[in-house]
Amino acid sequence: RAKEEGRNNYQFYRPDMHVRTPEMLIMESNLRRAMSENQLQLYYQPQYDLASRQLIGLEALVRWKHPVHGMISPADFIPLAEDTGLIVPLGQWVMKTACAQAKAWQEQGYAPVRVAVNISAREFRQLDFIDHLDAILSETGLDPHWLELEITESIAMQNFDETIMTLTDLKIRGVHLAIDDFGTGYCSLGYLKRFPISKLKIDQSFVRDINRDSNDAAIATSIIALGRSMHMEVIAEGVEREDQAQLLLAKGCHQAQGFLFSPAVPAEQVVSFFSRAQEKTRGARVIPLPRISA
Ligand code: C2E
Ligand code: MG
Ligand code: MG
Ligand code: MG
Repeated sequence: RAKEEGRNNYQFYRPDMHVRTPEMLIMESNLRRAMSENQLQLYYQPQYDLASRQLIGLEALVRWKHPVHGMISPADFIPLAEDTGLIVPLGQWVMKTACAQAKAWQEQGYAPVRVAVNISAREFRQLDFIDHLDAILSETGLDPHWLELEITESIAMQNFDETIMTLTDLKIRGVHLAIDDFGTGYCSLGYLKRFPISKLKIDQSFVRDINRDSNDAAIATSIIALGRSMHMEVIAEGVEREDQAQLLLAKGCHQAQGFLFSPAVPAEQVVSFFSRAQEKTRGARVIPLPRISA
């Protein structure tokens, strides 16, 4: 699996390693060191409006550049960080870095876009989660309107009352909320309508074969219809080909991100998307979204 995805072969961590083996303790201390020695870096993946092809957001995705093992995928160390609790300081670092970077881009004069940050259940459940966020927002000076938090369906489904309070606190601040990997979890539609969520992210597993597999197409189309009818934005993840983008647009999907546009890139490279976005904005015709076909 690691090979397929072009990573090195280093077997880092599997979520099924529930027993604390000596090996796992070593991994944990490696990750701790990675944080203190600045081996973590944030990459950003652009998100586009499908109709106008305008840049509308950037998703922050953490990368670990290990001095010996090279690039380690978050899929391999986020589960470890979650199980050991290291996700809390890691997540705070990600949040602070992303907010400071977003503010810096704005101060450099680029047209502001939203920055999306992934939040694990364990971070979201911290009693001081909101206090920490407030501290970061005031420290960096970022207007919360430009921040989007991506949570999963499983977060949304646990501790309903507590979750709704936290989500409402975020919404009051102007923070945008998105449900990541939508369609892969167990989100009850009855609950969904009571959450102040503004965006659904269609999981890439439904997008991959959307032009060939009628079930995937039906699921994606249903998510788009659901989101639109609840006045949410809908973004498709993992869009790699133009035919996927065209089908999604025809079904009424608002936005997309994926290798068709760009993979996640280091902050320095993001600037090239800004200038392109601004060129397109000047005098660009705004194409209305297609009506959704019932
Ligand atoms: P995610 O939030 O669902 O992010 C989307 C993943 O799909 C990213 O993988 C991204 O690089 C990848 N991707 C984007 N476009 C394409 C495409 O066209 N095709 C394919 N095949 N893949 C695409 P990445 O960066 O390896 O991250 C994996 C997961 O790790 C993320 O899934 C997220 O759940 C988690 N993660 C990443 N950064 C953070 C973070 O800072 N905090 C937390 N809590 N989780 C994170
Ligand atoms: Mg995400
Ligand atoms: Mg996702
Ligand atoms: Mg995911």
